[in-house]
Amino acid sequence: MAVFEQVDFAEHEQVLFCHDASVGLHGIIAIHSTVLGPAAGGCRMYPYESSTEALKDVLRLSKGMSYKNALAGLPLGGGKSVIIADPNSDNKDELLKAFSRHVQGLAGKYWTAIDVGVGPKDADILAENCDYIFARASQYPEGFNPSLFTALGGFTGIRATAKHVWNRDHLSGLKVSVQGLGATGRELCRQLFEAGAELYVSDINKEATDYAVDNYGATQLPVDQIHAAEVDLFAPCAMGGIINDETISDIKAKAICGLANNQLVSEKHGVELKKRGITYVPDYVVNAGGMMGAGTRIFSKPTMEDSRNRVLGLYDTIIELLSLAEKEDRPTSEVADKMAKGLLMKTI
Ligand code: NAD
Repeated sequence: MAVFEQVDFAEHEQVLFCHDASVGLHGIIAIHSTVLGPAAGGCRMYPYESSTEALKDVLRLSKGMSYKNALAGLPLGGGKSVIIADPNSDNKDELLKAFSRHVQGLAGKYWTAIDVGVGPKDADILAENCDYIFARASQYPEGFNPSLFTALGGFTGIRATAKHVWNRDHLSGLKVSVQGLGATGRELCRQLFEAGAELYVSDINKEATDYAVDNYGATQLPVDQIHAAEVDLFAPCAMGGIINDETISDIKAKAICGLANNQLVSEKHGVELKKRGITYVPDYVVNAGGMMGAGTRIFSKPTMEDSRNRVLGLYDTIIELLSLAEKEDRPTSEVADKMAKGLLMKTI
């Protein structure tokens, strides 16, 4: 496995491979940037087919965290970690505990939290041996999941997109397709439903789609058709890579604003979306709600109201970004990347 040659390695400060033979831990921590503050980003547990695949994922995700935290105005750098394992493994707790010792060894240079396969209760397990864990269940009222901050950010982003694209101040009657109805997608559907949007949904988990059909009057679409739905706006909220060479020409939505990380397979797809007249809200901008709501605990003691208000600030950030891209006649993805890179430049 070539590490330094990976496309996304280039700007990384440090990559650590974590091993603990006693529990079979194989993990990777990628620290992309600490220019703005300690690197912060969740820990994903996923049964990657190879360590190369895991490395590729963690490098892309950690770079995205630097950009996300910078544009969200947080004094935090970017990092991410992955544990190569099935999150349903019997020894999940042991893997988390072993992994957290590696995070502790970094003495605060990297803070971690929840991601796919690692929930708020798991974050409490990570915190048993580590001082650098946020988005823990025990930090919030019973039943509150910090992913709800991310969903609120998604809803706020869709409101801003509707204002920019259609000059709409309400979402009533807006047709929205949502791919993935997990911690973020389901709550996003709830908020869209309450705002009067017409929902089209898809998930590989039947229970998840049944719930949205029964409770939010959603129309279920096949998993391989959701990106091609005849809707106004597409909200990808599952895994990354949904905007690729195969799918891009099928997309009929006029706008894309969703919470999944790494939605574009490559930069050229951001350019292509613009050519096709599709307004794309860069994923790392709109999905910053979790960091804005929960990550702020790394450097302050926000109330729930403070956290909520910070997330609602995404409305102005997204309006500003979309307006700038329109004015400069450039892809939104390029404009956001340039803004983030500017913030990450070391000041001498
Ligand atoms: P989750 O694991 O709770 O939910 C993901 C859902 O997507 C699941 O219901 C799963 O069945 C479904 N899914 C998987 N593959 C699918 C496919 N091909 N088609 C349709 N559905 C599919 O995850 P989440 O926390 O909701 O996160 C979703 C995305 O948002 C991820 O990319 C994550 O990295 C990103 N994200 C999440 C947060 C957060 O706070 N949870 C923050 C930022 C970004």
